[in-house]
Amino acid sequence: MSGPAAVAGRALAVHCPADGRRIGEVPDLGRDEIAAVCDDLRRAQPEWEALGPRGRSAHLLRWLDWLLDNERRLLELVQQETGKSWADASLEMSVAVDVINYFTANAEAFLADRKVKPAGVANRVRRLRVQVRPHQLVGLITPWNGPLGGPMMDVVGALVAGAAVVSKPSEVTPLAWAEAVRGWREEIGAPPVLAAVTGGGEAGAAVVDQVDMVMFTGSVRTGRAIAVRCAERLIPCSLELGGKDAMIVLADADLERAANAAVWGGMTNSGQACIGVERVYVEAPVYDRFVAMVTERVAALRQGMDAPGSFTCDIGSMVTPAQVDIVEEHVKDAVAKGARILTGGHRTPGNGFAPTVLVDVDHSMRCMREETFGPTLPIMKVADVDEAIALANDSDYGLSSSLFTRDRDRADRLSRRIEAGSVAINNAMVAAFQLPVPMGGWKNSGLGTRFGGAQGVLKYCRQQSVVEERFSLKSEPLWYPVVPWRSRLISRAVRLLGAHDWRRRLGS
Ligand code: NAD
Repeated sequence: MSGPAAVAGRALAVHCPADGRRIGEVPDLGRDEIAAVCDDLRRAQPEWEALGPRGRSAHLLRWLDWLLDNERRLLELVQQETGKSWADASLEMSVAVDVINYFTANAEAFLADRKVKPAGVANRVRRLRVQVRPHQLVGLITPWNGPLGGPMMDVVGALVAGAAVVSKPSEVTPLAWAEAVRGWREEIGAPPVLAAVTGGGEAGAAVVDQVDMVMFTGSVRTGRAIAVRCAERLIPCSLELGGKDAMIVLADADLERAANAAVWGGMTNSGQACIGVERVYVEAPVYDRFVAMVTERVAALRQGMDAPGSFTCDIGSMVTPAQVDIVEEHVKDAVAKGARILTGGHRTPGNGFAPTVLVDVDHSMRCMREETFGPTLPIMKVADVDEAIALANDSDYGLSSSLFTRDRDRADRLSRRIEAGSVAINNAMVAAFQLPVPMGGWKNSGLGTRFGGAQGVLKYCRQQSVVEERFSLKSEPLWYPVVPWRSRLISRAVRLLGAHDWRRRLGS
């Protein structure tokens, strides 16, 4: 079940968005087939858990070797199924390398038992410990914008924790991930605790019905449906959803750096990044210069699906025609309401959309309120920082954000007023890839976090408290039978030790 055409029957064709070529197919698995895969994973999990963090890390590091040895082939699959530039495709391998190295290096420390001091005098006779056990089977459901890097962000924490993982890549881009999972199962001698099941939304829903915990990345609509189903099943879920990330550029900013960051943050992956810059607010005194710098740079971007290894294009095509439609609708809506296009603004051959700068935009426009998920940068002039913060927070989303200023104290104060899961100061997108700090969305952008040091592994675990007696008495003062003098003495002791003034301590 780990790769394309693993079963006969219904199949899903996969096409290259840049030229429409059919590049492969994967099985469209039904509920029963997915349930059978999950049964196998559950059978293999206890042995995997018993390996301990070091044993499990050894397999993950072997997988990393295999991924690097097969980098070119895997990235070609990524590129073909997404139409990305080679540079954007290559970023997906760097995510895999970073995540595997970080979590394997820290697995033992993150999963270690935690000794805890008891609270209160009466509990000093006890030893307390918190130990963790993984959820047995984690379901990992991912979208199409990062076919290899996306699942990698989460699968490593879950495997290192000792869970088995059933992954469901997007039906639009299943090939690279299915091949990576085949590598795990067939090439490196790892235990069969990772599987890729392919199919559409129904396959995703079948996964949710089988697992003990769901890690989902994708749209708000699907995330909400998954959360409802998880609530019915009383299982936890962690959701990384859409974003409408704001960038704020203050008058004292290093303007050249801010302009370069805006272009990078807005256009990477053709704008199909959840933590991409979706809207920019610039203080009036530097607005004109900033807009000119950004427009010059956006107009110079080279677009296309370049040859593997050539690194000759900046951005590629978009992944789905439906997403290009959304980008086009947002641009048309903005123009109809008074916005101007300074560069781009139209579709390009091969499912592309020309990198676009929009000005004279406001919050009546869809491009400032809804997730565009495409290569557009709407830039709005603001009178001052208060207006910038108010507009940045005027959103249903709160994934990430960025702030450009040379004043560190001001940046610190302002970061506390921005309603988003992360704030990058003098950079864009970068906060989401700092593995020791949590990445998570506020408001409609998500529930829970990914990464975050130990939390990136512990989220796949259940905590188990172990309370052990230091002494073995035959009975305890609170056990039966109730003895009046003893109970009165205990009540007095509770007051004496717990109250904060003498009147209450003495019980008057
Ligand atoms: P989507 O929600 O349509 O699909 C995501 C995955 O969910 C796919 O694998 C799909 O088959 C599956 N699915 C669909 N219906 C399901 C159901 N009822 N039950 C279970 N699974 C189901 O999202 P998409 O269009 O593939 O991806 C784009 C979205 O992903 C954007 O909104 C983007 O912002 C978001 N995204 C978020 C992050 C993040 O970390 N916050 C990262 C990348 C993308």
